[in-house]
Amino acid sequence: MAGIKNNIQNILRGFPSHVELVAAAKGRSVDEILEAIEGGVKIFGENYTQEAEEKFSIIGGGKVKWHFIGHLQKNKAKRAVKFFDVIETVDSIKIAQAIDKSSAAINKIMEVFIEVNSAKEKNKSGALPEDVEILARHILELKNIKLTGLMTMGPALKNPEDYRPYFKDTKALFDKIKLNLDIKYLSMGMSDSYQIAIQEGANIVRIGTAIFGPR
Ligand SMILES: *Cc1c(COP(=O)(O)O)cnc(C)c1O
Repeated sequence: MAGIKNNIQNILRGFPSHVELVAAAKGRSVDEILEAIEGGVKIFGENYTQEAEEKFSIIGGGKVKWHFIGHLQKNKAKRAVKFFDVIETVDSIKIAQAIDKSSAAINKIMEVFIEVNSAKEKNKSGALPEDVEILARHILELKNIKLTGLMTMGPALKNPEDYRPYFKDTKALFDKIKLNLDIKYLSMGMSDSYQIAIQEGANIVRIGTAIFGPR
């Protein structure tokens, strides 16, 4: 565990100042998260609402922010809006409506990103690139959601360089949408691909393995 702080410092050293680190913490313990906080992590990404809620109940939201980065089911929206600061994975009007409704019930404006299925993979989550703008317009009509960014995973690839075209495409989509809508965050890049994502314009990267070690 002594490695976590070192790993974070090594990663942050190479960061341009406009890039924010989300530590992807699925399956990691509260102790590992506390160590990461000591190392300088300010945002954690979680994929499962129940696991996240357990950690949140101990760590809280005062010192750090929590981003939901997993696939959100409609029936989990109520739980998610209670304590997440950002939901990065909105990919349909239905899930946006569920988040809006749950947020309205607790008087919250929920910050969200749209997840883009940048490789147009079948059976993968994320909105198809050609559907993102219309989804963004729908979200604008919802009072208790604020859209502030785009997120993409990209396909699972062996060679990090192969991610580049998907990151480039998502950045182009981001720039296009930004012409008409007030969005500022582009979340892309993981342990093996974050350097390429930053080169291609990511200002949020989500890193798990390179911080905490193999799962
Ligand atoms: C797990 C996860 C990451 C981090 O992946 P690593 O390869 O461990 O860095 C990033 N984004 C999402 C959505 C994840 O689920």
